[in-house]
Amino acid sequence: MRLKSGVKLTGLQPQTVLALSIAERVYERHGLEPVVTSVNDSRHGPRSLHAAGAAFDLRLPSRCAAEAGGRAWGQSLEPVDRDVHRELASRLGECFDAVLEQHQASAFDWHLHVEFDPPI
Ligand SMILES: [Zn+2]
Repeated sequence: MRLKSGVKLTGLQPQTVLALSIAERVYERHGLEPVVTSVNDSRHGPRSLHAAGAAFDLRLPSRCAAEAGGRAWGQSLEPVDRDVHRELASRLGECFDAVLEQHQASAFDWHLHVEFDPPI
């Protein structure tokens, strides 16, 4: 697992660390090294679970694959993204949410968001 430069790790919840470990296993099963692009960073709002150390973002699996293979990333979702997302959501169970999302409708900004959000 790699951390993108500038990722802030302050205040990480233990559940977040567990989810990072599970995510790494899922990416590795697909031959990919996950890149954590955001944890507790200022670009998320103060009410975001990121600010509580309970969420993180991962580089899209298809983008990891493209970069590892020296190819340009197509800037859109590919089957491997849906496969990794489905498997990760299944392994994390109901206490976590895993979402393929993009910020501000920017095609460049697709990522896999994971948060600890147990049912009440
Ligand atoms: Zn996020």
